[in-house]
Amino acid sequence: MSGKDLRVVVIGAGMSGILAGIKLLEAGIHNFTILEKADRIGGTWRDNTYPGLTCDTPSHHYTYSFERNPDWSSYLPPGTEIQAYFERTCSKYGVDRYIRFNQEIASARFRDGRWHLHMKSGAADVADVVIAATGVLHHPNMPHIEGMESFRGRLFHSARWDHSVSLEGKRIGVIGNGSTGVQIISALAGQAQLIEHYVRTPQWIMPVDNTPYSVEQRETFRSDPAALQAAMRIEEFLANVNSYTQVITREDMEAAAFWKASCLQNLEQGVADPVLREKLRPDHEPLCKRLIFSPDYYQAIAHPRAALVTDRITRIEPAGIRTNDGELHELDIIVFATGFKSDQFMRPMQITGQHGITLEDLWAQRPKAYLAISMPGFPNFFMLNGPNGPVGNFPLIDIAEHQWHYIARLMERLRSGDCSEISVSKEALEKFETERIAAAKTTVWFTGGCRSWYLDAEGIPSSWPWDYQRFVAEMREPDWSAYAMGPPGQ
Ligand code: NAP
Repeated sequence: MSGKDLRVVVIGAGMSGILAGIKLLEAGIHNFTILEKADRIGGTWRDNTYPGLTCDTPSHHYTYSFERNPDWSSYLPPGTEIQAYFERTCSKYGVDRYIRFNQEIASARFRDGRWHLHMKSGAADVADVVIAATGVLHHPNMPHIEGMESFRGRLFHSARWDHSVSLEGKRIGVIGNGSTGVQIISALAGQAQLIEHYVRTPQWIMPVDNTPYSVEQRETFRSDPAALQAAMRIEEFLANVNSYTQVITREDMEAAAFWKASCLQNLEQGVADPVLREKLRPDHEPLCKRLIFSPDYYQAIAHPRAALVTDRITRIEPAGIRTNDGELHELDIIVFATGFKSDQFMRPMQITGQHGITLEDLWAQRPKAYLAISMPGFPNFFMLNGPNGPVGNFPLIDIAEHQWHYIARLMERLRSGDCSEISVSKEALEKFETERIAAAKTTVWFTGGCRSWYLDAEGIPSSWPWDYQRFVAEMREPDWSAYAMGPPGQ
């Protein structure tokens, strides 16, 4: 890219924001700032510090394609290693110099062809282009359970783990069995005096081998990039993830049968106690919720000091949790592993585009954006991992790299002076949304009979409803006819 000197503001210094910084520098754009609301980079990997936190994507795939890491300790590495990877990469590429911490944006308004941003700190900035890299899962979902304020012990969300609380000799209740709840139970069973897992909907669990990489293996990865490449088994990985994307898009019943059989076998062989096994048996289609990979959950929940509670929670009392069979479960700590509000994105930021249109107006029914990237009336405002962006179980880091490539093409038009403003047209977004929603209704997320964070308020899956190949193809080059462009810039 070369041409007009664009001023760019990136919102958020997590995985996507750091990627944007690296790529802007690579393109010779130095006039940018990354505004970060917290005092550290890392996004989700900064916020989540719960015991047992690991990546649920194979480590060697959970890196930027241009910065592989030979030093991962295992196939599914702990969160602290991932946070360290992002910190290291951010400073290696010189992005840290462009970040301003403790700058939460209160509002962004498009006026006279530029974005005017106001921070809660009182600071302000002006930009030609805004890149929102605010993440999908970062607003904790804290359901209100009657009586929760009266609890005498400690109660917190998994993404706000209170490390000042000792777990030694404690009775801990964990509510929720997404990846987070499952990882916490696996880490704490046997450590706590008692750990109770409150499960409303049993989940399918896929076995996975998480043997640590040996010192020799890591040395080989370091000295021989080809060995690292081979260990990534890219073909096998793509075939695997593609096969569950096909299940999601309902194109491949053979793949569906494979995933179901693998999870079923794991349940039958992994849980010896027949009563416990039946309580753990899901009643929905595999992959209807995001599939959980765990090497040891079934062992953990069968531990003598662990218990599965499938009776409904009726309320929380000062001493613990009361379930609908009338039992009071006395506890010292309650952890809400209850997930995230996945429809928030940049909110509660007030964003106002052309002619006074607000984000709340555009998103009144549901969050929407053309290809997850652009919104009509919000020129030069682009999103990484925006609404309806996740593609099956593909790593978000790979998704963000493809999206960046596309955003860079949009920015090239601005930089060349071809146009001064660019955003998708209303008609193109409407057409895209109609097709996306129709396709979403054919996916297992919709037909599989379960509730999940993939569903929006009207029950429509909010992920990319087609396969990975289509996503990659769409990201190669914008369809310029979908865009409304302002007059040529100077
Ligand atoms: P989640 O998958 O949304 O699971 C939330 C859990 O809380 C569900 O079991 C849900 O039950 C339960 N729940 C919610 N409200 C409840 C209520 N009022 N009463 C009882 N139970 C309630 O959340 P998550 O486990 O935090 O995971 C979210 C996503 O984050 C994952 O799908 C994954 O993409 C990502 N994640 C990634 C990693 C990683 O390693 N990369 C690790 C953790 C999480 P129902 O099923 O009955 O609704």
